[in-house]
Amino acid sequence: MYDVIIVGAGPAGTSAALYAHRLGLNCILLDKAVFPRDKICGDALSGKSVRIMRELDILDELDNLDGSEINRITFGSPKNIQFDVNLKGTQNNNHITKGFVIPREIFDNYLFEKAAAVTDTRQGFSVKDLIFENNHVVGVEGKTREGTEEEFRAPIVMGCDGCNSIVARKLGLYEMEMDHVSVAVRCYYEGVKGLTDQIELHYVKEVNPGYFWLFPAGDGRANIGIGLSKSDMKKENRTLRQIMDEVTQTEYFKERFADAKQLE
Ligand SMILES: Cc1cc2nc3c(=O)[nH]c(=O)nc-3n(C[C@H](O)[C@H](O)[C@H](O)COP(=O)(O)OP(=O)(O)OC[C@H]3O[C@@H](n4cnc5c(N)ncnc54)[C@H](O)[C@@H]3O)c2cc1C
Repeated sequence: MYDVIIVGAGPAGTSAALYAHRLGLNCILLDKAVFPRDKICGDALSGKSVRIMRELDILDELDNLDGSEINRITFGSPKNIQFDVNLKGTQNNNHITKGFVIPREIFDNYLFEKAAAVTDTRQGFSVKDLIFENNHVVGVEGKTREGTEEEFRAPIVMGCDGCNSIVARKLGLYEMEMDHVSVAVRCYYEGVKGLTDQIELHYVKEVNPGYFWLFPAGDGRANIGIGLSKSDMKKENRTLRQIMDEVTQTEYFKERFADAKQLE
């Protein structure tokens, strides 16, 4: 019997496990994937995430992971006017002076190993349902990859299982407001020029409303992508891939992509 069951070992689940450990709680972390696993993402750690890493006393260790340190955020307008926000600006104790771009395959695996060092974990275990008794959630049941059914019990079950959360669905809490759903394409590239210590968000006219992101992902790689609302995408006759190629071939970006090669 555990104090807490955490469903999902992405950043939410692993950091919850690390906080639970601090509180002396006996917890188990379950994930249907086997780590390291990838997760489609821009890979950027914002100020909020960095603050949590600092609170968990693991911020310094992020410097050792493959990725990029970020000191600036560049915003670009549809007319390609840019402005930068410098993270190393005015400071107080709460001010975050740097961010990171760390490929999720690396970052999530790092956090998973941190959590696994202090808590029980089960990888390759897919939660299929919640167990209810007297109208209360008392555990979860699921299946291993080999098809073995198993259940775990605890008075607290945390749903950290991402945007299609089975925990939320089983509790009738799952809501998908289509007005707020976006679609995106993400690729890793090498050979993109002008990658330094900045993440770039360009609100380009080729995808308006929406944006093109260009993040340095370490080792000369770039994480780039396009995102826009699903309702706007439905009106498009171009695919996301076509829109992205259009953007990278505009006058404004084509020199930076002249020698770039897609990695996947
Ligand atoms: C294209 C794109 C770009 C993004 N870029 C950024 C960015 O640059 N910076 C940023 O901060 N955020 C970004 N995000 C958002 C970010 O990816 C999410 O906010 C983040 O992954 C949420 O973390 P999480 O731990 O809640 O869920 P997830 O990372 O989705 O982890 C959920 C985990 O639950 C597991 N799971 C799911 N169902 C079950 C089940 N039934 N049983 C067991 N395990 C289960 C999954 O295997 C997974 O490991 C982006 C998202 C997208 C789609």
